[in-house]
Amino acid sequence: MPERTPRVVVVGGGFGGLAAAKALRKARAEVLLIDRNNHHLFQPLLYQVATAVLSPGQIGSPIRSILRNQKNTTVVLGEVTGVDKAQKCVFVSDADRQDVPVAYDYLILATGASHSYFGHDEYEKFAPGLKSLADAVEVRNKVLSAFEQAEAEEDPSRHRDLLTFVLVGAGPTGVETASAIAFLVSNTLRSEFRRVDPASARIVVVDRGDRVLGSFSQDISRAAKQRLEKLGVEVRLGQSVDQIDADGVVVAGERIPSKTVIWTAGVTPSPAGKWLNVETDRAGRVRIQKDLTVPGHPEVFVVGDTASLDQDGKPLPGVAQVAMQQGRYAGRLIHRRLTGKPAPGPFSYFDKGNMAVVGKGFAVLESGKLRIHGFIAWLAWAAVHLEFLAQSNLRVSVFVQWVWTYLTGQWGSRLIVNYYGSERRRLVSDAPQKAMAASK
Ligand SMILES: Cc1cc2nc3c(=O)[nH]c(=O)nc-3n(C[C@H](O)[C@H](O)[C@H](O)COP(=O)(O)OP(=O)(O)OC[C@H]3O[C@@H](n4cnc5c(N)ncnc54)[C@H](O)[C@@H]3O)c2cc1C
Repeated sequence: MPERTPRVVVVGGGFGGLAAAKALRKARAEVLLIDRNNHHLFQPLLYQVATAVLSPGQIGSPIRSILRNQKNTTVVLGEVTGVDKAQKCVFVSDADRQDVPVAYDYLILATGASHSYFGHDEYEKFAPGLKSLADAVEVRNKVLSAFEQAEAEEDPSRHRDLLTFVLVGAGPTGVETASAIAFLVSNTLRSEFRRVDPASARIVVVDRGDRVLGSFSQDISRAAKQRLEKLGVEVRLGQSVDQIDADGVVVAGERIPSKTVIWTAGVTPSPAGKWLNVETDRAGRVRIQKDLTVPGHPEVFVVGDTASLDQDGKPLPGVAQVAMQQGRYAGRLIHRRLTGKPAPGPFSYFDKGNMAVVGKGFAVLESGKLRIHGFIAWLAWAAVHLEFLAQSNLRVSVFVQWVWTYLTGQWGSRLIVNYYGSERRRLVSDAPQKAMAASK
């Protein structure tokens, strides 16, 4: 009897899952990568799609294209809905079938996180978050539509409200998005409107913490705040959002009328902890061991944003580097087990540093004792982000776009992509006729 090839199921083709699959490229195993999206997404540049610098296709790549030369790997489009640890299978749903069991010998869960409204899910309708390409296109539609609505509005007293943009959360995404909107209004859109002056737009960043970029050091936070203010962004720290509705936000008891509120304040892990029925931290992330497995199940690994692991007494942050290093470690560990080699030492995260961009030609960078801000940091930021894009065609295209934008101030993809109300009605009313036609 020929020996059965062991199967490694990787759930998630983000930073962690992709690194794991790549680390298994030489393994004598059948690798099955399952993702509910057909693309790997470079989330750190999502804000540039949301603010119309880049187009969606410049920060996402089809997972099967990235892994096309990896012959032992099959990519499946589907959503995992549960795990049966005893039977060693995951349940996968797609457009056709529900909860199909897929067996594994090894399982790597790298299902990431989504945004959290801290118990106020009703805010989502008015304040989209930024986690997927669909989110970024929705935010882009909202931002660009605000200018169109203001231009169409004859009553000048309404212009101010229509051109008020509120970012909830002063972490890297809030800061980067706010500064990109500031650049958009003062450069790209400057000469294109007749009734409104885009540069008069009000951009507000709100956070209940006492500094912007709270995960950076004090002096870097200070530099980022000064830079935001120089760009005309209003920074409101130590203030909580009490309410978000169709008319705007209420911050520390004061209403800020706005048609464009963007949520960048919190994340919640995928339900991997519930699927596995194992211990999680307070945020719901799966508590894993030093070899990234779940206690009692040496064949089940959890990596990236959906995992919780302490190092030097502190939880590892939810950043791409952690996910990539953990994914690579899990893939290599499985490879070694399959070849009968001894296990490597425990996982140890190597922190290469933190960066965030604050408008054109300005970034902040922290790496070990090095703390810099300004143009040099921005060059480093640009180089690192280009390097980590998934495919070389994206690197070239993003590089060219950035150079063009830097030199001309012109943004890349300023399209509002929406159905017209009448089109959607037609689609809905046509549906039964189309279904009948198809059945004939
Ligand atoms: C706007 C934004 C900006 C960021 N900026 C930075 C930055 O500048 N630097 C940095 O280091 N980090 C940044 N991060 C964080 C970083 O992107 C994450 O830490 C990283 O993506 C985590 O990798 P992951 O593999 O755990 O999850 P992800 O990369 O999120 O991948 C999860 C994958 O799992 C798939 N998936 C989820 N659930 C299921 C399911 N049930 N079935 C099938 N597939 C599923 C998803 O489709 C996705 O492809 C940013 C995040 C965001 C949202």
